[in-house]
Amino acid sequence: TVSAAVTETKSTCPYCGVGCGVIIESQGTQITGVRGDPDHPANFGRLCTKGSTLHHTAAQPITLQSRLLQPQRRMVRGEAPTAIDWTEAMGLAADQFHRVITQHGPDAVGFYISGQLLTEDYYVFNKLAKGLIGTNNVDTNSRLCMSSAVAGYKLTLGADAPPACYDDLQFADTLFITGSNTAYAHPILFRRIEDARRANPRMKIIVADPRRTETADVADLYLPILPGTDVALFNGMLHVMLWEGLTDHAYIAEHTNGFEVLRDRVRDYAPKEVAKLCGISEDALLQAARWFAGVQPQHSGKPRRSTLSLYCQGLNQSSSGTMKNAALINLHLATGQIGKPGAGPFSLTGQPNAMGGREVGGLANLLSAHRDMSNPDHRAEVAALWGVPDVPALPGKTAVEMFEAAADGEIKALWIACTNPAQSMPDQATVRRALERAEFVVVQEAFATTATCDYADLLLPATTWGEKDGTVTNSERRISRVRPAVQAAGQARHDWLIATDFAQRLEARLRPGLPPLFPYDTPEQVWNEHRESTRGRDLDITGLSYAKLDATPAQWPYRDGETQGKVRLYEDGIFPTADGRARFADTPNEPLAEPRDARYPFSLNTGRLRDQWHGMSRTGTLGRLFGHVPEPAIEMNEQDMARMKLADGDLVHVTSRRGSLVLPVQASTQVQPAQSFIAMHWGEEFISGSSSTGERLAGVNALTTPAYCPRSKQPELKHAAVKILKA
Ligand code: SF4
Repeated sequence: TVSAAVTETKSTCPYCGVGCGVIIESQGTQITGVRGDPDHPANFGRLCTKGSTLHHTAAQPITLQSRLLQPQRRMVRGEAPTAIDWTEAMGLAADQFHRVITQHGPDAVGFYISGQLLTEDYYVFNKLAKGLIGTNNVDTNSRLCMSSAVAGYKLTLGADAPPACYDDLQFADTLFITGSNTAYAHPILFRRIEDARRANPRMKIIVADPRRTETADVADLYLPILPGTDVALFNGMLHVMLWEGLTDHAYIAEHTNGFEVLRDRVRDYAPKEVAKLCGISEDALLQAARWFAGVQPQHSGKPRRSTLSLYCQGLNQSSSGTMKNAALINLHLATGQIGKPGAGPFSLTGQPNAMGGREVGGLANLLSAHRDMSNPDHRAEVAALWGVPDVPALPGKTAVEMFEAAADGEIKALWIACTNPAQSMPDQATVRRALERAEFVVVQEAFATTATCDYADLLLPATTWGEKDGTVTNSERRISRVRPAVQAAGQARHDWLIATDFAQRLEARLRPGLPPLFPYDTPEQVWNEHRESTRGRDLDITGLSYAKLDATPAQWPYRDGETQGKVRLYEDGIFPTADGRARFADTPNEPLAEPRDARYPFSLNTGRLRDQWHGMSRTGTLGRLFGHVPEPAIEMNEQDMARMKLADGDLVHVTSRRGSLVLPVQASTQVQPAQSFIAMHWGEEFISGSSSTGERLAGVNALTTPAYCPRSKQPELKHAAVKILKA
């Protein structure tokens, strides 16, 4: 036999928002290797355990057990689906959605999509829902990931745009890492933090987190704040800065509005009370405020040292997520720590393309290219771009609302793409009721193993990493190409193509004879349309093309005629608000949605493991990744375990107001007394349980609360009150 030559293809890692470049090696139809792309500015050749084992996950025997390889229809719920061809599948989908729309109106359907889709996929789904059907019921698992960051940026800086970049790590004198276990969730960025620390031994690292994570291990100052006290901490730090004269009066006067209201607010946040509320020492609070402000000892007149904040789900996944984001940004504005090298608030995106989804407006309350749904001029611009009479004005159902509406019978047809809500959404009892009650459920997926597949009336096989073609945007606004190394497995099709086919069929039913809205044959055509929609906007990418991105990934904005993107935003002190000034937000400290009480005396926190990704569809197939943490457990403080006479490995019932799980317990030095932690990845193969009314449930989201931030609608996945009893 003659073996095929090895082909190398540059692409992007499909896991986290660091967005590392990879080089895929393939032979014929097989992906045989992967290594870091030394030329990619996100990672310069490095990969973490997940990225460096991608080829093993792609080289799994591709069978009906692991991948969806052909469209399937489930004639009777609860029974096995049967194979059908694509024409029949797409005709069925179009008929069912058309029936529901005609009988019940456009808002009776909903699309729940994913931050793991490519920008092109996102674009078509968004246009399909808002432009063709006329519903804003298109939301995504990015709602569970980044919507508080979006709301926080817009409230204070005027636009959803992370102002800093990865290179700022090397210029920062103080790093404030809050609500982020960067070491586990963004490993290659953490390597860059370690590099920066080595190059600048004067750098101070502050970590604020209820859990003493691996990230906290590198901190010069660790603040073990109690759950839900982030805003109190930030307001308390500002109080100290004001008291000690550490704010930047000139910056506040020249570039901001609203400081007086905030100053009055934080007057009540005296260090002693704040320290007590947060569960930290007063000295630690004072130290954090001084380091953050970047003022040299004794006000020596030297320029301020630079402070960069990194934050993620600890701030976002909260019933006061927007306030937490805004209170942190307040600190940057009050000290002028923004728009200069090594400074700024820098939200890290959990998913690989949460940013791209936001750019195309792929959420229920957003419009294309950062336009505002509530602005009639913006709606008219989008309608004109798409060639439709109008787009709906009222926000659609966000993630939690969408499944609650389906559980209530209001949404009757659901289209779920590239995500697994039957594991990843909070309050699983409601989600599963929604999937059962909906009249028609389409699941568009690469993997056959997700819990949501069991609820599908129609299963549509999608391509996945190594097969897909398009673009993604990482945390630092950098757009990278995703390229196919091998052909699609089985009959799998690209997500944008499935959405386009469906849209064309629905178009023929809803607006026959009118010019086509979805004339796409390639992902590049979709991207070019998206690019045009950004013209004149803050994220303008009219100077970019697939060809330029093929040469090198680039940051936005990158306007027509420019030769490079913008590394750092707001260097001129002008913000994308009506008067060009940033806005301080008035940020009261709001209580947890579900505080601990006598019946549910433990706080439950959730989060990532180093070597797993989301619901483990891909990473769960590799023993090498599984070996890091082979079993689920609930982590508790050893004092609590001693008091409750629990030993490592003992089984416990963990119960919230919504459900109950049985799990082994494990002593942890990371978890404080009266707190507990369960990793988010384990699904029904690993953790079984039941709802409060006896339905079978699984995974940590049997316990979590659907309470969400009223501004961002992001649910509070980071805190639920639970009781823990020996089984
Ligand atoms: Fe992939 Fe994130 Fe690891 Fe980079 S840090 S290799 S993007 S999982």
